[in-house]
Amino acid sequence: MVEMKDVCVTYATGVDALHNVNLKINDGDFAFVVGPSGAGKSTLIKLILKEIDPTSGSVYVNGYHLNRLRRRKIPALRRTIGFVFQDFRLIPSMTVYDNIAFGLKLKKLPKDVIDEKVRHVLDVVDLEGFERRRVHTLSGGQQQRVAIARAIVNEPEILLLDEPLGALDYKMRKEMQLELKLMHEQLGITFIFVTHDQEEALTMSDKIVVMSNGEIQQVG
Ligand code: ADP
Repeated sequence: MVEMKDVCVTYATGVDALHNVNLKINDGDFAFVVGPSGAGKSTLIKLILKEIDPTSGSVYVNGYHLNRLRRRKIPALRRTIGFVFQDFRLIPSMTVYDNIAFGLKLKKLPKDVIDEKVRHVLDVVDLEGFERRRVHTLSGGQQQRVAIARAIVNEPEILLLDEPLGALDYKMRKEMQLELKLMHEQLGITFIFVTHDQEEALTMSDKIVVMSNGEIQQVG
């Protein structure tokens, strides 16, 4: 699903953000990228989204060879990738339903199709009955689940989770870790979870990629 071969990224400022990175994430993996701030995790994510190009080396994502991907194909690549951010990025004054349906409405899908998709993901994240609640009335963990529902309703091949549990308290984080594991099993898609929290990576992992100073130290 994601492969990097001898990838180096040097920013215009001369910073070597990634150095000879070789990485393979298979279809259906739950892969963790863990490392301290400045390790190169965000740079790795930007490569996957083709927000930046490698200075040298090759990047493959979901069958696309990104080095050769034409600009007009970038939206198609990004549609296969769902995101969950640390700060959720929901619209607080809107209902749970409208937050999740937002992208589907933009695509002008028929109302009954949108309804069915939203109900399905609400079931996956265990929020049935919350459709009409406004997001600002939900707990942090519930908001996080809405953010996940919004990402998976578009049926991505890859779900990128960038420190998704960072804003939650300890107990909620533990609960969400278990729920994410279950969702991963249920959905069968590739999860790439970026965190600086080693414990989180160790609790939930199938595969851990340890990064430091722009290099992959270990994969296992
Ligand atoms: P992480 O996500 O693990 O904190 P980053 O990928 O953001 O690490 O950063 C890796 C290194 O690249 C850091 O030294 C950072 O300062 C540098 N860096 C990140 N983005 C840029 C940029 N746009 N321009 C110059 N240097 C950058």
